[in-house]
Amino acid sequence: MMGIYVDHSSTTPVDPRVLEAMLPFYQEQFFNPSALYPEGRRVQAALGQSRQTIADYLNCSPEEIIFTSGGTESDNLAVLGVMERLGKKKFITSKIEHHAILSATDYLEQKGFSVVVLPVDEYGFVSPAELEKNIDDDTALVSIMWANNETGAIQPIEELCEIAHKHGALFHTDAVQAIGTQEIDLSKTKVDLLSFSSHKIYGPKGAGVLFFRKGVELVPRNMGGQQEGFLRGGTENVACIVGMAKAIELLKQEREGRCAKLSDLSDDLLVWVEKLLQDVKINTPKVNRIPGVINMSFKGVEAEPMMILLGAAGICASMGAACNSSSVEPSHVLKAMQVPADYIRGSLRISFGKDSTAEMPEQIATELDKILKRIRK
Ligand code: PLP
Repeated sequence: MMGIYVDHSSTTPVDPRVLEAMLPFYQEQFFNPSALYPEGRRVQAALGQSRQTIADYLNCSPEEIIFTSGGTESDNLAVLGVMERLGKKKFITSKIEHHAILSATDYLEQKGFSVVVLPVDEYGFVSPAELEKNIDDDTALVSIMWANNETGAIQPIEELCEIAHKHGALFHTDAVQAIGTQEIDLSKTKVDLLSFSSHKIYGPKGAGVLFFRKGVELVPRNMGGQQEGFLRGGTENVACIVGMAKAIELLKQEREGRCAKLSDLSDDLLVWVEKLLQDVKINTPKVNRIPGVINMSFKGVEAEPMMILLGAAGICASMGAACNSSSVEPSHVLKAMQVPADYIRGSLRISFGKDSTAEMPEQIATELDKILKRIRK
């Protein structure tokens, strides 16, 4: 039995309406969308319809969308695809990006590209002035995430994008954590490339999108057939793409309601945390944050025992830190924000979802109070 699931930034359950839309594509409509017989054509049409639904939601053209396996692949294709295509040598990103970007950055550096990783301030924001200081006319691409996956901080994307363009660079944003709550209208924002993933918005795992604005050229990472305009070879993951489009359709209808609820839940959690807990530092900024996510650190506490005790109490949350078999490393995001040493190891991210209940904030804070007292004793 699942208790209190508050790890929606990590992944979300598939909405039953999404699953219902997907199921026919595993059985009676299993055909290869590249097949020329009518059954294959019908599956191709379903793919086209999914592409149109997503393009309509983002306000872009269907030709500007590439279906991928998720956020990681979209990020890799954006960064490596652009850098390998353009003659310019410099790539700029930030210290708080997801590893899908940071690992691609390391790879570029090994290949001899010049790489700049921008710092953030104590609230986790990238400063446009820092970008201005580091960008030059040899910069091919700037990639800064729309919202951070650990703290929920929303970055000043429009200003950053404007600076990139002023210097003739393209701008990519990882919108994996933004898509579920932020309005994304590609006719208003000037970003050249944007990634998102289906499993953060009640769609299935294994599907994602890379938007690339008309005129942007990419070197493919998956070489094979002619799928996705030769930019991503491989038989399409039809059921998951159809499911992702259904998740987008539901998001269009429900986003505002979901945001209002998420906002109430995270505000409520902050009230309960302040009422019940001592020596806590809230790492999520007060303004410019996505609703529903609170990242906090507890003084003198290690995340691992806290997570184990929370898990035993039926609360599924995330520690906002990288865990390997022998140690729990403080998160690179919190390190970049220079969270004090006596707080940084005890971090916790609570991320509510559309089906979270109004009782959860009090239940979580009450349980945390007991756990922290026990650990600190
Ligand atoms: N980018 C961000 C900001 C994320 O939060 C995640 C997943 O947590 C990813 C990229 C990777 O997405 P996926 O799991 O679909 O590969």
